[in-house]
Amino acid sequence: MARIAVYPGSFDPVTYGHMDVIERAASLFDELIVAVSLNPGKNPLFTIEERAELLREVLHPWPNVKVDFFKGLTVNYAEKVSAQAIIRGLRAVSDFENEFVMALTNRKMSKKVDTIFLMTKAEYSFLSSSVVKEAASFGGCIKDFVPEVVRKRLIDRLREINNIKGDEQ
Ligand code: ADP
Repeated sequence: MARIAVYPGSFDPVTYGHMDVIERAASLFDELIVAVSLNPGKNPLFTIEERAELLREVLHPWPNVKVDFFKGLTVNYAEKVSAQAIIRGLRAVSDFENEFVMALTNRKMSKKVDTIFLMTKAEYSFLSSSVVKEAASFGGCIKDFVPEVVRKRLIDRLREINNIKGDEQ
């Protein structure tokens, strides 16, 4: 039986921190599905399709990594694609509490799917999509945080937003 894992997240946009987790998880499973989640509570910069498209562009070197998106509960999606595990990354103690509650809840909802945590690489422990977006919006250099294609797309999107804001004023 193929060992399949799902790595769910917002990926708004994908960073080198995510890619490090993806590379390591891909070496542990036959197939890794990076699944962009539609989280109604968040106000993303990129649409779910745009986020998946960026992931596809940067993940093509890994043949056993697929990109998809889903709405609803992660466990339901994981069961649908016959995954045995959900992958999550941990950066700091502050990530732990939420992740702990989520993993226990998911376990309660499905006995078939376990959550596996991968610790961040030390150099990416501060890195998040929000930090990247904030740094880029203030003109900071984000070359060490995201691949070039993501950097360009992010800067274009921030320009579009600023132009729209400028027109409104
Ligand atoms: P979510 O809204 O689901 O937290 P994110 O895209 O912010 O979506 O994160 C997806 C997953 O990737 C989470 O498990 C998060 O902890 C992990 N992650 C994000 N950045 C890093 C990083 N720099 N190092 C390790 N894991 C990370």
